[in-house]
Amino acid sequence: MYQRKIAPVVTRFVVCAALAAFRAEPSVARGRRRGRGRDAQSVSSAGVMDCVVTGGAGFIGSTLVDELVRRGDRVTVVDNLSSGKRANLESALAAGARLEVLDVADAAGVGAVFESAAPQIVFHLAAQIDVRRSVEDPRHDATTNILGAINVLEASRRAGARRLVNTSTGGGLYGEAQLLPTPEDPPIRPLAPYGQGKLAAEGYCELYWGLHGLSTVSLRYGNVYGPRQDVHGEAGVVAIFCGKLISGEAPTVFGDGEQTRDWVEVSDVVRANLLAAESELTGPINIGHGQETSVLDLLAALNAVSGRAPLEPTFMPERLGEVRRSCLDVTRARQELGWEPEVELRDGLKRILAEF
Ligand code: NAD
Repeated sequence: MYQRKIAPVVTRFVVCAALAAFRAEPSVARGRRRGRGRDAQSVSSAGVMDCVVTGGAGFIGSTLVDELVRRGDRVTVVDNLSSGKRANLESALAAGARLEVLDVADAAGVGAVFESAAPQIVFHLAAQIDVRRSVEDPRHDATTNILGAINVLEASRRAGARRLVNTSTGGGLYGEAQLLPTPEDPPIRPLAPYGQGKLAAEGYCELYWGLHGLSTVSLRYGNVYGPRQDVHGEAGVVAIFCGKLISGEAPTVFGDGEQTRDWVEVSDVVRANLLAAESELTGPINIGHGQETSVLDLLAALNAVSGRAPLEPTFMPERLGEVRRSCLDVTRARQELGWEPEVELRDGLKRILAEF
């Protein structure tokens, strides 16, 4: 009886107390206690960092890789090229970045790559990003987004990484939020396995911080848009609308077009990743523009900057399960990370059209 009823409670209490004590200890001291000889100061003052970027051949990951390479960091990309493209890394590879074509679900493979790369900083962006696919095939979503995250955390810890910047989602976690803009605090209400998987990965990041002293942070993005974007992600509508603009076809708007999103430009997201890597913040941080923009307003902004005949949308019935309103409160990013979104929507859209 004791074993079944009391022992788990006692164990939970002991673990919680240990975690609380661990969190109270300054992270630099903790790093020293682990005998790594690396701390936040040594990483930023050393200038050059050894980094692993999972999902680094994708839209956001490759933009981050380009910036790391530009700064002179040594970068290893882990990507199975399922939605990412080698072409996204053309200039980074030419400048010395390494690409390991590998599935993050392959624990042994990930472990071997991390051991050889010996990263100080890990940016974990590899993910199954298609919300609808996560509903159709939750097992595949969990294999990549939960088991893959565990493999990356485990490999990071074994390789002696100092810091892991995890990638999460605001829109996917908050669902139909009661409070807009939505801060990081609960309630969390994922509407699909994609959000549930990201939530689980965030939880593992916090556990690895508490249990193993691997410093982690989870950035919850709004709807990220920019050059190289694919049509399947959370902000895929921007890529779709831009494509329609070029081909001159009418874009489809589902529902009345008044559903809102928080569009944040990819270079702002990259800057948030770099700041997060150098900080010691833990837990979730929203990274959005903090502004609600409807799909129809997005289309109007695109029409305004395109210099082409304005696109008139075709309306289709609303899609089931789609969130009506989404907007992130970015106060924590502003106050604690020192990050501000800088790119206004119209300027961001101009950048995409220039790439087309
Ligand atoms: P993307 O599809 O361009 O990038 C994902 C990358 O992960 C791709 O290069 C893909 O090949 C790789 N990948 C997928 N499964 C993998 C696996 N099993 N093993 C190794 N690599 C794998 O999408 P993105 O928009 O650049 O997304 C990057 C991250 O940002 C993802 O974690 C995504 O969930 C998150 N995110 C994106 C948005 C957005 O609006 N784009 C919003 C919130 C969160």
